[in-house]
Order: sequence, then structure tokens, then C-alpha cells
Amino acid sequence: MSELSFKARELDAGDELAGLRSLFVLDTVSDHAADAAEVYLDGNSLGALPAAVPGRVEDVVRRQWGELRIRSWEESGWWTAPERIGDRIAPLVGAAAGQIVVGDSTSVNVFKALVGSVRLARFSGSARDEIVVDATTFPTDGYMAESAARLTGCTLRPVTPAEVPGVLGDRTAAVLLNHVDYRTGRLHDLPGLTAAVHAVGAVAVWDLCHSAGALPVGLDEHGVDLAVGCTYKYLNGGPGSPAYLYVRREVQDRFDSPLPGWNSHAEPFGMRPDYEPAPGALRGRVGTPDILSMLALEAALEVWDGVSIDTVRAKSLALTDFFLECVAEYVPPGRVESLTPPAHEERGSQVALRCADAGEVMKRLVERGVVGDFRRPDVLRFGFTPLYVGFADVERAARVLAETLRASGGDG
Ligand SMILES: *Cc1c(COP(=O)(O)O)cnc(C)c1O
Repeated sequence: MSELSFKARELDAGDELAGLRSLFVLDTVSDHAADAAEVYLDGNSLGALPAAVPGRVEDVVRRQWGELRIRSWEESGWWTAPERIGDRIAPLVGAAAGQIVVGDSTSVNVFKALVGSVRLARFSGSARDEIVVDATTFPTDGYMAESAARLTGCTLRPVTPAEVPGVLGDRTAAVLLNHVDYRTGRLHDLPGLTAAVHAVGAVAVWDLCHSAGALPVGLDEHGVDLAVGCTYKYLNGGPGSPAYLYVRREVQDRFDSPLPGWNSHAEPFGMRPDYEPAPGALRGRVGTPDILSMLALEAALEVWDGVSIDTVRAKSLALTDFFLECVAEYVPPGRVESLTPPAHEERGSQVALRCADAGEVMKRLVERGVVGDFRRPDVLRFGFTPLYVGFADVERAARVLAETLRASGGDG
């Protein structure tokens, strides 16, 4: 046994989260056939299936829908699911209850949050007319920001996160930033950037897609105004599970959603022609919630019972450190370049490696049971979900990667 696989065993033996893996549907690793089990390092794109979900979905469909039918809106808690599940996500992102609603996609929530934040910034009559957006962002955030800017008569300023403090001023209305970059895995300074945005009187909107469930966020502590995130990455809610919107308590009564559906009305069954927004986070709702995927998400969130996000963060850093150590040991020097910051305070829960033939290399890796993903043009992405990835998985992934890189030679 190599030194690193011995170290992996020791790290696994000391891992207090190791038992959580059995809460997920994943290939079982038995010693003699360890290399036959898939190593799943794509939980930053689609989290694995928590074992409790299929039974819950079956109950929701057969009993709640099939037998109780319309009574389930009340009796099965369907109507209040968006805020109830929001409150279940809240502690994972450092929010007190009553500030998060679940529903719609991340893209739609980015739109609600950005238009809403420009309206907030102008609430007391100011003429602020710029939206600053992370130019390196996941494309959908940029598309939504462009439309939000056009709709509100703002100019869009796409800059890198490092340039943000330098472009802020008394024209800035809102700033949309990513907590962790989806491509490189870089963790941005949420407390520092939020403070800089507030110093000029603007509104801070954070996208938590790649941080929620992987590391502490501290929304309340750091004074974030609005935040959005998806639930199918580190929160394991399932394909297309609904996203969430956080509206800080202090700004809720001024939050003016650009999508005021009847579900966000103060009296939804009053069927009144005039719109009166509901109090609290409820104003983030739009139309009828997508109950099937929402209740699948609720079952998926049960894996977090009793789990501390600080413990998750410590393991996440240990996993990415160990992966980088194994890559340095096994992969021929110069064959890949890490885009992931070496400093812990700048690292999310993924490692991104650049190599010219990344597309071909990832195809081979997947064939050999090591599943990460490829991002154009030349990035190999490996996501480390602390709830179910172990250190032996990490060692094997790096070993198979090194073998694959050797075999394919690489010409660039
Ligand atoms: C995954 C991700 C999204 C996904 O948006 P959807 O509307 O849920 O498809 C958006 N933004 C970022 C930064 C992401 O990482």
C-alpha cells in the first residue's frame, strides 16, 4: 500500500462525518472491490440522492396527492412549504428564521433580488443608476443582471470581484456577487465586500450556489441584504429542485418584488384586484409552489440534522488539501495547473485543474469511475461534498487522474 493510501485510511478513520455517507445512495466501497465503486466528485453540480427521498416522494404522490387530494394544501403542509423549508435552510447559511423562501429557479430569484435591490436603493428617492456585477460569474446571473439593469434604467458595470471596491460610488444601486466562483472554486470575501457595498449606501446581493452546504456563509452576521442559491448542488435537493431567496429582516417591509404573484399577497385567497404584499419573507413567493420537488428537497435536508457547518468546512478543506497533495505526488510535473487558490480563506469546496486536453481527460476519467466535470475550454472540475466523499475516494481519484494523464500524453 502506498504512503498516500495509508494516509487516506488514517484520515477516514478520524473523520467524524464518515457515517453520513450511509444516508446517501452511492456505490458501496468494499475493500477487495474498492476500484469498482464510482468516486462521485460532481456534487457541486448535482448532489447525490439522499436515501430518504424516494420513500418521501412516493408518500407525497400516493397518499398526500392520491388520497388526501386538495386537503393536502392544509393537512400535509403544502401551502406553507416554501417558508418552512426556507427555515430549514436558514441555519446552514447563518440566517435566523423568517427570512428565506424556497421556490423558482436561481435565475428567477437573481432577477427578483436584483430588481428588488435597485428599488430598495432608491426607496428614499435617491437616483442611483448603476448595477455592478461580477464579470466572471455563472452566465445566467449576468444575463439576468443585464435585463434587470435595462428594466430599471441602470447601467451595468461588469467587473472582476477584485475590482468591485474601486468602482463603487454614490451612483451604485446594487452589487451582485458570487460567494464561490463556479469555475475556479475561488471563495470571495463576503464580509469585506458587503461592508464596502454598504459604505457607499448600496445593496449587496450574494449568489450562494457554490457555498451553501459546503462552508459557513454568515448572512445575518455580515449584514447581507439579499441572497439567492440553488438547492441541487451541496444541498442535494435533486435535479431542478427549487432555489431560495433570502431577504434580510430589516429590509423586508421595503422589498418590492418585480414578480408579485398571488402567493406573495397579504391575503392570497381574498382574490382582491389590488395587490398588497404579505409581510416578511413571504413577499419573495410568486405562484403555486412546485410541491413534488419541494418536498423531495425537504426530505433531502434531513441529512443535516445535527451536522455542524463548521465541521463540514473543516472536512472540506482537508479533502481539497489532500487531493492537491495527491495530485502533486502522482501527476507528472507541469501536466496540470491548479486554478484553486492555495490559501484556505480563498477556497471553496472544489478543485479546478487546467489542462489543454481536459475534455478528453474527463471522458476517460468518467469511464474509469471517477466522476468530475469539464468546463470549457480547458478546466477539469472536482467537487468535494464533505457529507459523502471520503479520503480514500480522493486518493483514488488523484491516482486514476495521474494514470489517465500519463496514458493520454498531452500535447499542450
Ligand atoms: C448553478 C448555478 C446557477 C443555476 O441557475 P438555475 O437557474 O438554478 O439553473 C446560477 N448561478 C450560479 C452561480 C450557479 O452556480
